[in-house]
Amino acid sequence: MLTQIQDVDVKTLAEVYDEDNIDSFVSLYLNFDDTNLIKHREKSCRTALKTWKKEALENFNKTMGIIEEYLQNEPKERGQKGWIIFASHLNNFFKAYKTDFEVESRLIVDTSPYISPLMQLLDEYEPFGLILLDTHRAVVYVVNHDRVKTSKHLSKDIMNRHRKGGCSQARFQRLRRGAINAFFKEVSESSEHLLSEVKRVVVAGPGTAKDEFLDYLSDDLKKRVIGKIDVDFDEKEVLPAAEEAVTENREHTLVSKLEAFKKEVLRDGLAVYGVKEAVDAARNGQINTLFVLKGLKIKGWVCEHCQVVEPGNIKVCPYCGKPTSEVDVVEEIIEFAERTDAETEFVDDDETLKDLGGVGGLLRFK
Ligand SMILES: [Zn+2]
Repeated sequence: MLTQIQDVDVKTLAEVYDEDNIDSFVSLYLNFDDTNLIKHREKSCRTALKTWKKEALENFNKTMGIIEEYLQNEPKERGQKGWIIFASHLNNFFKAYKTDFEVESRLIVDTSPYISPLMQLLDEYEPFGLILLDTHRAVVYVVNHDRVKTSKHLSKDIMNRHRKGGCSQARFQRLRRGAINAFFKEVSESSEHLLSEVKRVVVAGPGTAKDEFLDYLSDDLKKRVIGKIDVDFDEKEVLPAAEEAVTENREHTLVSKLEAFKKEVLRDGLAVYGVKEAVDAARNGQINTLFVLKGLKIKGWVCEHCQVVEPGNIKVCPYCGKPTSEVDVVEEIIEFAERTDAETEFVDDDETLKDLGGVGGLLRFK
């Protein structure tokens, strides 16, 4: 089955690690076209492990064996673009996802699943909700990167605007209004259900129906409505307009969050910056929003036994004496952040964040 990126259980992946600091986890991001590239990486990893840790090499060979067997035996799905696999023979761990989106092919050997490429994809492929409606028709959509993931159509026979005789004008209007209200209620119930997972929702349609409809939404869902679009009841027209509104809102939100971060930095408030400080805050669960410059990597070491991560190059853990493992500190910060339910924002370009070391966070507490 194809996996939508949002269905990957990133939190579980972030919680898994090798307690003996052995680089036993293989993380494979693979596009169909790149099989040779991965063969080359596999060879390089083998060479690096050979002169280093015997146990890690043995595990690597076994883990790659498991992955290759899986790749050979699993049929490709229609629409599949590649794979994301996390595996460790030593830890008896295996998770494979068939993706319907492009990934940048990578093979990484580490003490835990390497999740930052996945986090970045999740950030880019944020699904949104769309409710298109008038007084008697509605479609509730979950849109996932240009594609409609799910949609639910609802409609109701609402009496025509004009009375055909029989009852008084006032009574007719009352009945008609009642029918419309009942319809809005039905649409709102479907929306609450279908859009429970999305962060941003757009409400669209012709006339004033969408404004009246908003009153039928729960406060929680109402808060997530980021825009109203006045359009005809036309899917072709509304989808790109909604996508644009969501993109604009995402950019705008990120800018405001970065502004809040800078304000906190200035008043020495609920902000953290600098690599070492960010690691500590992320591990302590203090970070609410983590900012990372896209593509940033910082060389460091980890002792999974003590859960210590620091920049620099130390071979033996100063706290427990176990051999350490080399890591990308940024990846470790992202993993800590994910374990503690922080939100990670990948920032394309920001001078302040760059000057503060490329990582920073808004804190929950200090
Ligand atoms: Zn240690």
